[in-house]
Amino acid sequence: MSTTANPPPPTTVADVVAGLAQRYPTAWAEDWDRVGLVLGEPTAGVRRVACVVDVVPETVAEALAAGADMIVAHHPLLLRGVSSVAPTTYKGRIVHDLIKADVALYVAHTNADVAAPGVSDALAARFGLTGLRPLHPPAPGSPAAGAGRGIGRIGELPRPMTLAELTRHAAAVLPATAWGVRAAGDPGRMVRTLAVSGGSGDAFLRAATAAGVDAYLTADLRHHPAGEHLAAGGPALLDAAHWATERPWLDDLAAVLRAELGVETTVSDLDTDPWTVHATAPTAAGPAATRTAPGGAPTPAADPDPAPAADDKEPRREG
Ligand SMILES: [Zn+2]
Repeated sequence: MSTTANPPPPTTVADVVAGLAQRYPTAWAEDWDRVGLVLGEPTAGVRRVACVVDVVPETVAEALAAGADMIVAHHPLLLRGVSSVAPTTYKGRIVHDLIKADVALYVAHTNADVAAPGVSDALAARFGLTGLRPLHPPAPGSPAAGAGRGIGRIGELPRPMTLAELTRHAAAVLPATAWGVRAAGDPGRMVRTLAVSGGSGDAFLRAATAAGVDAYLTADLRHHPAGEHLAAGGPALLDAAHWATERPWLDDLAAVLRAELGVETTVSDLDTDPWTVHATAPTAAGPAATRTAPGGAPTPAADPDPAPAADDKEPRREG
């Protein structure tokens, strides 16, 4: 065997872009989303890719220190129109630092959410969910329509557990954050079927109710939508840190990059959730503290649909 054969041509930014477009076609992204190559010369070589949820100065510094040639991020750095990337601005500084370091940036966001396997499959795997199906399938005829695809996943837990137990379990199996996991609904409610959706999942509360799941885990849930959802008899809710619900997908992304493009990968465990401190009241029993449902009376553990407590709900306000 010859030892003087030419080495294979190096993987380029364009190769990574093409490889990721196979797995997460950009046409699958929501209309409002901005995905794909953000910056970087397509012909530049890529030996190492850093996988991150957020492109922030801290994760960029981590990627540069790791010798990455490219960053693949979940959240768009530039989602809305910009008229300047001056280095005196927060995002412009990041753009400059990346270009000067010759590090490319690529985003796979809602196109990775909807893919199968996608962001919520990695989240579902943390819970060992089986029999997975999408929580919110794409509209028929839309570019992302296809078997198994859609936002969020629904599956069966390996064994039923109470909401209180599932909340502690979620905090244990998800990446650690200051936020942790909080839950809404009867702590004694038994959960067998769980819906999960990585990132902000407010928009899919109705889908979770329609699916008839026992509980729905997502991030960024708010007072009024959550309260009204529960008052209407919807599934129990678990509200995890946004970053913690999407970080599991980075392992899958890195595995795809290694297997299909032969590049080295790093996965950022830097918690980019904005929340850094979480305290419970001194009277509470600690991280697992629970209280009764709104209205004061303990909700019987066997009652899957606590009576609505509509009289203490304020009119819905947005924002
Ligand atoms: Zn997100």
